[in-house]
Amino acid sequence: MIKANDPSLKSWVEVPEGSDFPIQNLPFGVFKTPGLQPRLCTAIGTYVADLSVLAEHGFFDDLQIDRGVFYQPTLNDFIALGREKTRAVRNRISEILDDDLEDWDASQLADYFLHQQSEVVMLMPVKVGDYTDFYSSREHATNIGTMFRGKENALMPNWLHLPVGYHGRASSIIVSGTPVTRPMGQQMPQDADAPVFGPSKLLDFELEMGFVVGRNTQLGDRVAVNEAEDYIFGLTLFNDWSARDIQKWEYVPLGPFLGKSFASTVSPWIVTLDALEPFRTSGPEQDPQPLPYLQHSGAHAFDINLSVDIKPEQGEAKTVCQSNFKYLYWTMAQQLAHHTVNGCNIKVGDLMASGTISGPEASSFGSMLEISWRGTKPVSMPDGSERKFILDGDTVILKGYCEKNGIRIGFGEASGQVLPARQ
Ligand code: CA
Repeated sequence: MIKANDPSLKSWVEVPEGSDFPIQNLPFGVFKTPGLQPRLCTAIGTYVADLSVLAEHGFFDDLQIDRGVFYQPTLNDFIALGREKTRAVRNRISEILDDDLEDWDASQLADYFLHQQSEVVMLMPVKVGDYTDFYSSREHATNIGTMFRGKENALMPNWLHLPVGYHGRASSIIVSGTPVTRPMGQQMPQDADAPVFGPSKLLDFELEMGFVVGRNTQLGDRVAVNEAEDYIFGLTLFNDWSARDIQKWEYVPLGPFLGKSFASTVSPWIVTLDALEPFRTSGPEQDPQPLPYLQHSGAHAFDINLSVDIKPEQGEAKTVCQSNFKYLYWTMAQQLAHHTVNGCNIKVGDLMASGTISGPEASSFGSMLEISWRGTKPVSMPDGSERKFILDGDTVILKGYCEKNGIRIGFGEASGQVLPARQ
């Protein structure tokens, strides 16, 4: 067992019941305050713990890590240290925060390295080099296919044989809390004979998770499916905002473009694959059996409860979706093996998103397109209004957590408020 995952550990820092951030989580992020430059941190209860202060006090010295790595505006250099070092840092933080203070009594320094999360600004945790979006939920692909092609042809012939994906846009990936401006673009209204230009009327979210690549490969290298998880640093929540009307008009023949590239929101915390180990589970059975380069044995899915809330500008939020990461048909390991099977190189900080994660029940559908079934089944909100898609002023909030044997590991949230289009 990874030392920091020990369910019996308790921290001397108070962790409220139901917190996403017990001592068994210790995700990584980057924060700043009005007085402090960006630096690396972890989360414990309602606090961030400043890792640069701990480094300055020598807590990581025996791990032979350059202290400068903790003063960076992104996690990339830290992640590039490799699994052995980043695991050692997480284990050391666990010792520092452990209520058994025998080895590393850092509680005297609490005022210097702990800040309330509400008093800091969380930054984009990684500089994303390349971003790839998969389409790995069978339920989602089936729902979309049924809507646009009918039940008989719902899945394309390739879908059960490879994890379908496309190359997305990295520059517009933003951290939770950043507003999203409704995109302008071309649309072809129903029964019109020419396209129109204007604000998207069918703005949607996509409930996804992203994983951050933790290790480089060289051009020409392939990552074997059974080694693929060694190349994954950790996971974030990911809202792949989508303008359905722009997407529908533009996507043939080359796939999504401006209907997707205006914004994608990530949560500020990267939960390590190490922390998720206890929540491994089996995914759906794969039939037909994939080609040998996509075959792996063992459990490669993760049991992560996911939800989406819509909060109108005035008024109460409503949970519109409850899903789970384990519903995905294709695993992260298979996605990475497929991504590199042609020799395409990957780099530390690349982000790979799962695709919308829909489950079998209507309550687990991961986009408004599916929840409102193309606008035919509006959702009623607590204030009496209806939603077919996302309105100006709405905040969309993704959350996620794992829970087992009394330990709850959470992801925080990925939220974004929609602002009116700039006409
Ligand atoms: Ca997507």
